Amino acid sequence: MNDARREELAAGLAATEARIRDACRAAGRDPSEITLIAVTKTYPASDVRLLAGLGVRDVGENRDQEAAPKASECADLGLTWHFIGQLQTNKVRSVVAYADLVHSVDRVRLVDALSREAVRAGREIGCLMQVSLDPAAPASGGVAERGGVAPADVPELAEAVARAENLRLRGVMAVAPLGQDPGPAFARLAEIARALRNDHPGADVVSAGMSGDLDEAIANGATHVRVGTALLGRRKPFVR
Ligand SMILES: *Cc1c(COP(=O)(O)O)cnc(C)c1O
Repeated sequence: MNDARREELAAGLAATEARIRDACRAAGRDPSEITLIAVTKTYPASDVRLLAGLGVRDVGENRDQEAAPKASECADLGLTWHFIGQLQTNKVRSVVAYADLVHSVDRVRLVDALSREAVRAGREIGCLMQVSLDPAAPASGGVAERGGVAPADVPELAEAVARAENLRLRGVMAVAPLGQDPGPAFARLAEIARALRNDHPGADVVSAGMSGDLDEAIANGATHVRVGTALLGRRKPFVR
């Protein structure tokens, strides 16, 4: 049973790594520039353990209720945990206990809560600002429906993260808008990331690309791809 699952995951990993290599070759980039984050949401801790055995070092989760017990079951593996889901301030204390990077920082109130809890826990948390690339989202002021700060508000949010105790500004994250060509959206994200690096040279992470669009993301400068389905298989419909 476990052996069969290991084979499945090994095949998914080999196929995903081949896609990353091909996308890098096409873009004239080196595959060592890309970090693969295995998005293990809805899958058990045993899958995280198998992936770690196959060499995966980075894991992504989007719901604290699921991630917290999984991370504690896998604490012996020394993995880097990425929190990639929308984050309510009342979950911040729990998330800060296991997450190394939070990809979904989209408002100053969340920055304040993360900083306060990171100080309390004695941990440093890497922060990516989730940017809304949805053209229908408000130009400024307010968080888009799928999460994310408006591009115009990125500099101000970046300053807040950079000033906050025990937080480290690492870069940007985005999800391509539904039903649109992801290429132009990721190109826009690359522009935003470039402007950010002008003011904050250490903020060099661009988290973009999932199973369906990691190739376009790599063509547009992604440094981190977040891959679930292509690695672990199709998720069961979500039941609360
Ligand atoms: C689930 C999820 C992913 C992975 O999506 P797949 O299409 O399964 O690869 C990536 N990023 C975020 C924010 C997610 O919630």
